[in-house]
Amino acid sequence: MVHYLDNAATTPVRPEAIQAAVEAMGEGWGNPSARYAIGTQAAARVKSWRADVAGALGCAPEEVVFTSCGTESDNWAIQAAVELGKRKGKHIVTTAIEHAAVLEPCRALERLGYEVTYLQPDRQGNISVSDLEQALRPDTVLVSMMLVNNELGTVLPVAEAARAIKRSGCPALLHCDAVQGFLKVPFTPQKLGVDLLSLSGHKIHAPKGIGAMYIRKGLKLQPLIRGGGQEEGLRSGTEATAQIAAFAAACRLGAETLDQDLAHMADLNAYAQTRLKEAVPGLRVLTQGGAPHILPITMPGYKSEVVVRFLGDRGICVSSGSACHKGKPSHVYAALKLPKKEQDGVLRVSFSYDTEREDVDALAQGLKAAGEQLFTSLS
Ligand code: PLP
Repeated sequence: MVHYLDNAATTPVRPEAIQAAVEAMGEGWGNPSARYAIGTQAAARVKSWRADVAGALGCAPEEVVFTSCGTESDNWAIQAAVELGKRKGKHIVTTAIEHAAVLEPCRALERLGYEVTYLQPDRQGNISVSDLEQALRPDTVLVSMMLVNNELGTVLPVAEAARAIKRSGCPALLHCDAVQGFLKVPFTPQKLGVDLLSLSGHKIHAPKGIGAMYIRKGLKLQPLIRGGGQEEGLRSGTEATAQIAAFAAACRLGAETLDQDLAHMADLNAYAQTRLKEAVPGLRVLTQGGAPHILPITMPGYKSEVVVRFLGDRGICVSSGSACHKGKPSHVYAALKLPKKEQDGVLRVSFSYDTEREDVDALAQGLKAAGEQLFTSLS
């Protein structure tokens, strides 16, 4: 039996999403651009799936463009924003705790002569709006701030950032990577005041290979992919109907049960904090009060990679940080400037609507055993 507690890395595809994909590949296989019935029917379905995603996000369907993943949306948002601002300046503000999908395009722009200010978090992973206010300049063309950090669960002050940009009078567009925030904290793009916002399907129980970008009405971007003119000419390529269908189903269902899912994850998070602290003396929770699905902990004196493997051998899945690190130390935990012992022992536990207390119990037992056996083997 597998106890899956790594939902910030990816989520199991929910049965309704699988069913929607199967139908789209089966009877719904037509090309949405074709003019005969099976084509126009496919186009009508894509239209209604777009409305489902927009409904869950709280925006107009015309403001949603489908992409292949969150990384693509982040890259596109950043490139498009600097293209729009190219006559106004070459300064970007982001945070030191963004995902690589934001940091790497920013680094590429630095190599092209852009200046990037990286806002640093405090020890709890919070980003300060007054730091942002100080960083904004008349030539700032983009602020990119994530909604929920993928390794800490902290919620960043995106709405306050939008107000600060307005007050400053600088021409910056505001992009938000909401990959970990979507269906985990309540928001709409309009309430946040963002211009561009990125989503990913596989974090919300849809398959991999589908994401979306919110583009505020009235904002005209350069196309990401030129070709047959799909997605209003912004991202050509025949629509990935099966993935879109599954994404829409996951959005619809996730939005329907949002309140109860958030309450369930918050309950599990609190339960896990108690159980895990009981199981391992010295275990510390790194951040409090963030999104309910992420619980970052540290076991000082233990190597998280070793603990993750120990748990994995027992069918318990957690992560030692972002799954994208591939063994490299996490830039997010490094930015918190934790003592080395704490940094080495960081684990990320993450929940979803289908995680149960018995998964947390299994983790508590696994960590207790890891604490005893790994300590024995080290001594
Ligand atoms: N942004 C954040 C905050 C993420 O957690 C992830 C995935 O881990 C991504 C972007 C990338 O999304 P995708 O895997 O869909 O490319």
